[in-house]
Order: sequence, then structure tokens, then C-alpha cells
Amino acid sequence: MEIQWFPGHMTKTRRMMEEDIKLVDLVVEVVDARIPFSSKNPYLDTLWQRRPRIIALNKSDLADPDATKAWKAWYERQGFGVVELDALHNRGLQQIPELCRSLLKDKRERDARRGMQNRPMRLMITGIPNVGKSTVINQVAGRAGAAKTGNKPGVTRGKQWIRIKKDLELLDTPGILWPKFEDPQIGTRIAFIGSIKDEILDLYTLAVELVAFLQRERPQMLSQRYGLEDSELRATPEAVLEFIGNRRGHRMAGGAIDVERTARMVLDEFRMGKLGRITLEYPPEEALQR
Ligand code: GDP
Repeated sequence: MEIQWFPGHMTKTRRMMEEDIKLVDLVVEVVDARIPFSSKNPYLDTLWQRRPRIIALNKSDLADPDATKAWKAWYERQGFGVVELDALHNRGLQQIPELCRSLLKDKRERDARRGMQNRPMRLMITGIPNVGKSTVINQVAGRAGAAKTGNKPGVTRGKQWIRIKKDLELLDTPGILWPKFEDPQIGTRIAFIGSIKDEILDLYTLAVELVAFLQRERPQMLSQRYGLEDSELRATPEAVLEFIGNRRGHRMAGGAIDVERTARMVLDEFRMGKLGRITLEYPPEEALQR
């Protein structure tokens, strides 16, 4: 599926990222655990080079737990610190401070030996839209009693920092990265999970592609959710959407099946995890074994 992207937005978000990143010691890139590769923007790796980074596999409640484990191990082998999060239900966030300390340990010891006072470590949250950046920040802020620092009166409005621990502060605004659309398959996966505004998408075509994916990769989940017979499962994805619409009684005034409504429902249910916990992509080695 062809998805349009607007370079105008990109220039502005890129500039903001480049300014904010200068203020921190460590960056957390939030990705969606259902697409840990497609929702990651390699630009950050270029900008941040070999400095300490954490990948947060968020929405792990919606992903296949075995796949999330495999992705964690895979990113750790690439040199990232990795946490598995379910920010919505406040799970996994408490691992972040400890991981920051361990990733910055050498640098802080070096600084201390040179007689440099260790100020609190500073980190920022980044990621493409809708991966859960604000939810992570709000949960962390809530836990820390929303203890904001910085922004002294009389001084030009500066950055707001949330003190998480005595030795750790978090920038309260996330760094927004843009999705990578060069590869149409990546764009489609980002659209499947709902991280692209649906207004710019053809939802029917997207749902057909999702059904085709499920027929191929997770036929069981599809048949269980919608009560499809084996013969129905083998039909074209367009026909499968009609069967589902029929089962759910999605009819228009003249009696024809309202496939647009069915398309939206299937996408919504998939995104909410109602078909089950599904990861859409695997690390390279695992993909080869499948
Ligand atoms: P942002 O655009 O990256 O800041 O994303 P938001 O924090 O606004 O989250 C986008 C949507 O994902 C919201 O509806 C959140 O409630 C939801 N969300 C965030 N984290 C999780 C999670 O761990 N699990 C689930 N199921 N939903 C989440």
C-alpha cells in the first residue's frame, strides 16, 4: 500500500530532536512490541551513534510474549539496553532507572575520577507517533509525584524535567521521530497497528491486506474470532471480509453487506488485541527459522 508522507513535518520534528538530544545523557526509543523493527527509526542510531540507548518494547500486552523475548535478546546483542513495557498498565517501567545506571556507570565513574561532580543523569523518551511515549512519561511522572524541576520564574521558558529518582531526570516532552516509509511493507505494518492517521488511508484495502496476513500467518486466530469454516478461510481476503460482515450482520439498507464497516471493525479488533497477542515481524534469525 502506498502511504504518503509530508517532508515539511519531518524537518521541524528533526530539528527539535536534534536540539533536545544535546541536553541528555541517554535516550529511550519507544517502539511497538508488535513491530519492533518497523516502528524503530534508524535515524536515531546515526544521530546518537554509540552512546547509551535503551529500546523500550512497549504495548507488550498486545504482542506475542515469545516474540518479545526474542526481540529483547536480539536488540541486546546489537548493544542496546532493552526493557519490556506495558505502559498502559504501568508494567516494566521500574526497570528504567536501574538500566540507566548500569549503562552510564563507566562514564560516571570516569567523571568522578576526574573530579567532576555527578549531576543527575538526564534522559529523554523518543519514538514515532502512537507508540506510547506520552503514556510512559505520564506513568513515570505520576510515580514520581509529578516532581517537576527546572523552569525557574523570570527565566525564558526552558525545558521541564521530571525527577524520577535522586540521580535521574526525564525530559517531560518526548522526541518525535517519523516513521520510515521507504519500504511499503513497513508502512503497511505501521498502518495495521494504527500508528498512521486513518484519514489518509484506504481502510478497506488495509483490512484486506490484514486479513490476507492473518490467513497466511494466524488462520487459527481469525477462524476462532469470527467463527469461520476451513473452506471460508481459504477464500480470497475480500470474500473473508464478506463472510465476517455477514456473521456480524453488517448490512446496508438494500441488504448488501457493509464491507466498509466490517473492514473498520476487523482493524479495530486487531489493534485492541481481540484476536489474540500477535507480533507481525521477527528478528532476522527467527524469521529464517519460521
Ligand atoms: P505517543 O503518540 O507515542 O505519545 O502515544 P500515546 O502515549 O498517546 O499512546 C497511544 C495509544 O496507545 C493510547 O491510546 C494509549 O493508551 C495506548 N498505549 C500506550 N501504551 C500502551 C501499552 O503498553 N499497551 C496498550 N495496550 N496500549 C498502550
